[in-house]
Amino acid sequence: MKLSYCCPKCNSSDIAIMEPRRFGGDMYNAISFGFTNVYPTRYICTDCGYIENYIDDPKGLAKIKDKYLKNDRNDGFV
Ligand SMILES: [Zn+2]
Repeated sequence: MKLSYCCPKCNSSDIAIMEPRRFGGDMYNAISFGFTNVYPTRYICTDCGYIENYIDDPKGLAKIKDKYLKNDRNDGFV
């Protein structure tokens, strides 16, 4: 959807793109890192209402990777 601008559900090409607005009421959608937040860009199909969220900021992705991508999944949970 992000790359094709085509809805995967209804094949519409009417995709609205909502850039993240840091002070515009998108707080509920933010991924919090304590004192900083990462905000997703939303791609919304204006025909069927399907929504996809993407983190477009590479720095934001790096933060998520550092905090949430675990490399120790084989430990403990046996
Ligand atoms: Zn659609």
